Amino acid sequence: MSLFENTIRQMRQAAALIKLNPHIEDHLSYPERILEVNIPVRMDSGSIKIFRGFRVQHNNARGPYKGGIRFHPQVDMEEVKALAAWMTIKCAVVNIPLGGAKGGVVVDHTTLSTNELEKLTRGYTRAIAPFIGPEKDIPAPDVYTNPQIMAWIADEYSVLQGYNKLGVVTGKPLAVGGSIGRDQATSQGGVYVLLEALKNRQQHPQQTRVVIQGFGNAGANVALLLAKEGFKVIGVSDSKGGLFCENGLKPETAISCKLEKGEVGECFVAGIESGESCKKVTNEELLELECDVLVLSALENQITKNNAAKIKAKIILELANGPTTPEADTILKEKNVIILPDILANAGGVTVSYFELVQNEMNYYWSAEEVQERLRKIMIDAWHHVDDLAKKYNCTYREAAFIAALKRLEETMQLRGW
Ligand code: GLU
Repeated sequence: MSLFENTIRQMRQAAALIKLNPHIEDHLSYPERILEVNIPVRMDSGSIKIFRGFRVQHNNARGPYKGGIRFHPQVDMEEVKALAAWMTIKCAVVNIPLGGAKGGVVVDHTTLSTNELEKLTRGYTRAIAPFIGPEKDIPAPDVYTNPQIMAWIADEYSVLQGYNKLGVVTGKPLAVGGSIGRDQATSQGGVYVLLEALKNRQQHPQQTRVVIQGFGNAGANVALLLAKEGFKVIGVSDSKGGLFCENGLKPETAISCKLEKGEVGECFVAGIESGESCKKVTNEELLELECDVLVLSALENQITKNNAAKIKAKIILELANGPTTPEADTILKEKNVIILPDILANAGGVTVSYFELVQNEMNYYWSAEEVQERLRKIMIDAWHHVDDLAKKYNCTYREAAFIAALKRLEETMQLRGW
């Protein structure tokens, strides 16, 4: 089953619980527009290489299309379609006036020079330029794209328009119209949701052991934020492997060590926290560690029917998109593992992207406190809404989050005559 089929299956499960209007369900089962582009880039060697790129616009009933761009060797259309659909749902879960889209370029960024990466980014921007814009479709960072890449997109698009249109993309550096707090927003939003969920269970951060898969923007930031809240981070990993420190580790040390060594698993060898209580683990072993909270902040399809039964965490916080397959969801439900689902838990990123867009359009910028307070309110309201729906329909938080989104989408689409 493709990732997109999985996504539609999740949606249909929730749709059945609320008897969603069949033509609305049908509409949401297909993207509204699909672009496939080819991007010629003159490489440093002088030869021309052709790259493939995608942009999928899933739904814009509630506002302009919105969603990140992924640079990854395994990107394909089915994946981008799934990620676009999740964006539509996610924006509706947190009730921000945006639709859903996603983009991707098939590339291993580590093989490109900075010059080649810039040319590829500008080429991709030119290829999709007629279809993006602050009122149409607003890209953002995703896996292996960053604020610098967003700055190139904003610049290329502005050159094509003949004037500055920085709101064409979010996740930009502060000096190019970015928003304070955007870098940490995905993780911060997830932490707000986790803290509220723990209140329900009367569990205190100090007694909570956390394992984190993925050490990119979301993983590294969530480690810092959770440690600051008093949680005990006992395991972290990146794509090459991980580290398990029974007595806890200091995220700052792991981050600087990863920068130096290139992989966090090597930090044991480097003697992180003096070494004694740390050991190197594989990514598979990391997922199965004894802990209270498992944070998934890497890629999709990490918990599947093959390892779901072996998960020992009591709560899963999904900062990645689609890290748990539907089969795994069923197994984890039987094991009473609570999942704080991606479409709620990682929506802080797009929420601060929305703030960035608003600030760009006003050309007036907010303080860190203002961004934090607005994000906190949106995430906590969304959590309570989803929690209430989970009780009302006696369903999982994933189903409840889909229900929240589908009800809002149904209302808007019906009023618009869709
Ligand atoms: N790529 C992020 C996500 O999957 C952020 C998208 C955005 O800010 O538009 O939610």
